[in-house]
Formats: sequence, structure tokens, C-alpha cells
Amino acid sequence: MKLSTSLKNVKGVGVKTAEQFALSGLHTVEDLLYFLPRKHEDFSSVTPIAQITPGKRTIKATVESISTRTVRRGMRITTATLADSTGKLRAVWFNQPYRASQFKEPSMEFYFSGEFEYSYNRYQLTNPSAEKVSDLPVQTDRILPIYPSIKGLKSTVVRKILAELRPLMTMLPDTLPKSTVQSEKLVSTSDALLGIHFPHNVGEIERSRQRLAFEELFQLLVAAELNKRANAQLAGWHIPFEQLVVKKFVDSLPFSLTADQKRAAWDILQDFEKASPMNRLLQGDVGSGKTVVAGLAARQAASHGFQTALLAPTELLAAQHAETLVKLLGDFGVNVALLTGSVKGKQREALLTSLKSGNVDIVVGTHALLQPTVMFHKLGFVVIDEQHRFGVEQRQKLLAKSKHMPHLLSMTATPIPRSLALTVYGELEVSIIASKPSNRLPIATKLWAPTNRPKLYEAIDTQLSQGRQAYVVCRLIDDNPVNDAKSVQTEFKRLQNSVFSHRRIGLLHGRLKSDEKEKVMREFTEGSLDILVSTTVVEVGVDVPNASVILIEDADLYGLSQLHQLRGRVGRSSHQSYCYLLMSDSHKPSQRLREIESSQDGFYLAEVDLRFRGPGEIYGRAQHGALNLQIASLGDTKLISKVQKAASRFIESGEDLLQYKELASRVERYQRITTLN
Ligand code: ADP
Ligand code: MG
Repeated sequence: MKLSTSLKNVKGVGVKTAEQFALSGLHTVEDLLYFLPRKHEDFSSVTPIAQITPGKRTIKATVESISTRTVRRGMRITTATLADSTGKLRAVWFNQPYRASQFKEPSMEFYFSGEFEYSYNRYQLTNPSAEKVSDLPVQTDRILPIYPSIKGLKSTVVRKILAELRPLMTMLPDTLPKSTVQSEKLVSTSDALLGIHFPHNVGEIERSRQRLAFEELFQLLVAAELNKRANAQLAGWHIPFEQLVVKKFVDSLPFSLTADQKRAAWDILQDFEKASPMNRLLQGDVGSGKTVVAGLAARQAASHGFQTALLAPTELLAAQHAETLVKLLGDFGVNVALLTGSVKGKQREALLTSLKSGNVDIVVGTHALLQPTVMFHKLGFVVIDEQHRFGVEQRQKLLAKSKHMPHLLSMTATPIPRSLALTVYGELEVSIIASKPSNRLPIATKLWAPTNRPKLYEAIDTQLSQGRQAYVVCRLIDDNPVNDAKSVQTEFKRLQNSVFSHRRIGLLHGRLKSDEKEKVMREFTEGSLDILVSTTVVEVGVDVPNASVILIEDADLYGLSQLHQLRGRVGRSSHQSYCYLLMSDSHKPSQRLREIESSQDGFYLAEVDLRFRGPGEIYGRAQHGALNLQIASLGDTKLISKVQKAASRFIESGEDLLQYKELASRVERYQRITTLN
């Protein structure tokens, strides 16, 4: 048996089990070895019921009776009476109705492990895990790994198959360089896997976890370091800085740039002059004014005959950017064009021709820019707005349209926490616009219970009466029988036929044709609509300074960074703005959501999201789906900096990466995922 052996060929894995594994992405023996327990239960010390005291406890008991009932909307409560020879106690499970059928045989003994606590006027064992006594391996090995649940597959099955693989585990070569294992005093690959799947004591689990976390980050950081070195080798375009051009542009603006905007622009113009291509991330909270910085740099590029491509995630945003750039640059004779999926036929042909001949200086577009028919005369500068919306391949497609690697500016309003910037984007230079234009007030943000709707609508109407406009954001386009979230179709009709029948309301969502979208957006921008009922298509970039209220339905279903982005649609002028967050019917505001009430700081909120929900939540699957760290936390800056040193030491040592096959293949995969070029 080898690491690459298909799970189908492992003893004890039937066709059905193999299918279930495959559904969760587990195909080979190696996949299963690295399928790590989400926790361990210690069944080694059992308390007789008569002697139980509050705290985390394990009992060995049979189930005397059990029943499930539904309270409030959706909430299922299962209660059971558990008994051993010394007494009885009550156990309660929330939203685990399958428990009722798990304990059918009255004489069967289970270990139950959970929190024994005083709740609702009596003592109970809350949400205990349960393991059949007869399933437990050996009398003495009572620390059990509990695996993430795979549909229909129980931890017992996973444990049984891993037991088959145990001999293999003892023989694995180390996956980290020997020198690193030694200097960092890590346990070996074999010991780490054995210690996490078959632990004898808590210390062993801890050492295994440390080793595996170290390893994960090591792979990631070696990849980042290698990317960085590869980038430094590339030849870029030289775009000289010209003070007069910049000064004229700045003088033409209707406002003066903030200090942070100036600094960011300066960073970019300096990079333009370097020998290797720029790879810079411009981070700035929503509304901080990133577009004008990109415009300034594009102006400089155009003055030396270089073309700029600006990639935006939606047609709406692309159109808005094109309009802005025409306003900013039209007077300087800079040619701006818009290329989206709805530019077709002759118009498209003409545009492609002028792009290729160099008649167009700046092209703004959506994914349509990536098509092979789009060719440039001399593409020197690529700007990617809302970079987290795009995958690596899309970015690479655009960059490949130039003879030399163009300068790349990625822009994002979703701040990348420092820990993540260090690991995943080790190769990246960062400019930050921290301050907003000085005329802005903080957005008053409030969580609302759905029962308070009438008052909420009154508050919104007051704003409308003062000439302001409002967004209402819903999760879905249509009502959905299996999803309780509100839909724009229904809310649009309801608001129009009831509370806001005296107002002009528009409807916006991703399924509208692009000319319909444009029409609604134009009406809202011009102020001929009071309310825009929309899905999250308004999330990115939409800029209507007169809008001062945003109401977000089912707010608890979003990540904080996304809520913060949505909130950023308002607060774009000197008017006081408001953000109202409505809970889904059955939910109470969580601690996580409370954070957004009290903070306007996108960086801080991203850190909170990272802590509560992991990196995937913040950056979406496009880039980070494959970056699923199982054990290491990207919030663990101490470990990260330690591993980073070890990774640099390893690369500096000149040891051949390829001699560690495992490591090399993971590093290669990470390099592909995290590179910005
Ligand atoms: P974002 O960083 O979210 O992309 P935008 O570039 O859309 O922000 O800018 C938001 C708004 O702020 C725009 O209407 C823009 O014209 C305006 N703006 C940008 N910079 C300044 C400034 N220094 N002073 C005043 N308004 C500014
Ligand atoms: Mg923007």
C-alpha cells in the first residue's frame, strides 16, 4: 500500500463508503491520513452519575427514554433520560434530531461526554457526544478522535479504516527537511499522524498538532518566498515619472488628494520606474478614493504611450469607472473605452481594432477583457479592482496580453489582515489608504429585530423626505422554498404596495439584462428613484453620494467584511448616513454582528471575520478555496513569523526542494494559488 493508493482498494472500504469519501474530496490513502479529527474526546475517566458535578464530564450509561420537540421556528430540542447503576440524569441536544433514532436499543451502553451544567432551572448534560462502548478500540486507549462529519459516514468507520492504515503510518518518510525538523524540535511525520489519530495522552495530541500546523505554514511560506524571488527576476516596462503631467492632473481635480492618496500614488509611480514589474496591492476602505489614484497612474502610463487595462467584477462597476475616467482624463486627450459582454457586433470589432492599434489608452471592462480576441498595442499597466473577486487564472490571462509583464495594481476594500498578507502574499507590496476624504461622518449602524419594522421604515422615510435615497438589500432574487431569506422580488412588491407606496422604487439584481441594469442604476444615480431594492450586486463599488440609508435584510447570513462593503454604499458625502441590519426571524444578534455596530474599521472587522469564520469567508472561493488550512490558524502571528524564518533558512541553505517529494508538490500547488502574476 502507498500514499497514492485509492481508498477503494483499502480493506474495509466498500463501494458506498468510497463514494462518500470521494464526495468530501477524500480519494487516496494520503487524503485520509491528513483528514484530521476536529477534536478529541477523553473517555478515559468516567464519572458515576451519583457523583457528577458541573463541568466537562463523561458518563457511561444507557438511554431510558428520549424524545424530540420543535420550539420556536426551526429549533428542535431532543431530551433524554440517561441511567447508570448509580442514578439518572437529563441530557439535552439542540438541533440534532437524529439523536432520537441513535439510541434505539434500551440496553446498549454508551459513553456520553459533554458539559454538565445548570440551565433553565435544572442540571443537564448539554449536547453530549456519544460513542457506543462496544465500538471503542481498547480498554486503555480511551482518547478518541472525532472526525468532521461526512454525510452518512460515522467517526467509527473512519477510525476503523485508519486502523487498517496504521502500519503504513509508522513507515512514512518525513515531509519536512531534516534540518528543519531538528532545529525546530518537531516530531516526525509518522509520529505526528499516529499521535493525532491514535493518541495515548493529551501531550501527544498537542505535539502532533504543533508539528502539523508548522508543516502547513511551512509549505505555504516556502511557496510565497519562491514566488517573491521569481518575481524579482522578471523584466518590466520602464515608465518614467514626469512631474508636470502629474501636477496638471492633480490640479484638475475638483478636490485635493488626501495624504494617503498622495503616498499611494507616489509608491506606484516609483514602482513604474523599477527594473522589475510592480506587484502592488492598494488597500483602502470603501469610499476612500482608490479610483482616482489608479487614474493618476494610468495618466502617467498613457503619457508614455502605454495602455492600461482596468478589470472590474461587474458591468455596473465597469461602466461607472469608465465614466469616472472619462471625466478625469478626457480633457488630457486620453482615450477611454468600455468593453463588457454587452458590447457586440460592429462596435466591438471597432473597439478591438483600436485597442490593437494603440488608439485606446485605457480600456475598462469586465471578464470580456480576458477573451483571446482582445489584444493590445502596448499594455503597460493592469489594474484589478476588487481583486478578491477574481481568480489567479483570470489575472494571469490579462497579464499575458503583454510582451513584458505589465505593472500590476490590485485594489481591494476588503482589507487583508497583516498575518494573511505575510503568508499568502509574501511577495506583495502594499499601499494603504487609511484616512477617508475629510468630509465624511461615521455611518450610524444599528442591529434591528424584525418585529421593529414599522419604526425602521419611519426612520428611512424621514431620510427620504429630506431628499436622500435608500438601498434595501436582500439575499435572494426569488423566494426559495428551502431558504427563508428575503428576496428582492417579494420585498420590492411588498414595499411598493404598502409602506413606501408614495415613493419611487427600483429593482436591481444580477439576472436583469445589462441595459435594464444600467437604466435602473442611472435612474437611481440621477435621483429619479428614492429606493433601490437590490441583491448584493450593489456590494462593490457603486457610488451614489446622495444615498444615506442602507437596510440589509437577513444580515446575520453575511460575513462582516461583506456587510462592511455593503455599508460602504452610504456615507459617501457630508450627509449623516445610516446602516440598518435586520436579523432573520429566528436569530438573535451574535457577538460577531455586534462588532460591526461599534466599528467602522474594515481592517478590524476582517480580523474578527478571520477569527470567527476563517479566511475562505473573507476572500471567497476564487482564490482561497484551496487554501484550507486544517490546523494552523492564519491569525497565529507568532507561529507564522517563526515558520517564516525557518522557510527562509531552508531556501537560503540551497538544499534541493525536489528531494522532499511531498513538500515539493504542496509548495508547487500553493505557488499556483497564491501568486499574483
Ligand atoms: P473606493 O475606494 O471605494 O473605490 P471611490 O474611488 O469610488 O472609492 O471614491 C469614492 C468617492 O470619493 C468618489 O465619489 C470620489 O470622487 C470621491 N473622492 C475621492 N477622493 C476624494 C478626495 N480626496 N476628496 C473628496 N472626495 C474624494
Ligand atoms: Mg472602488
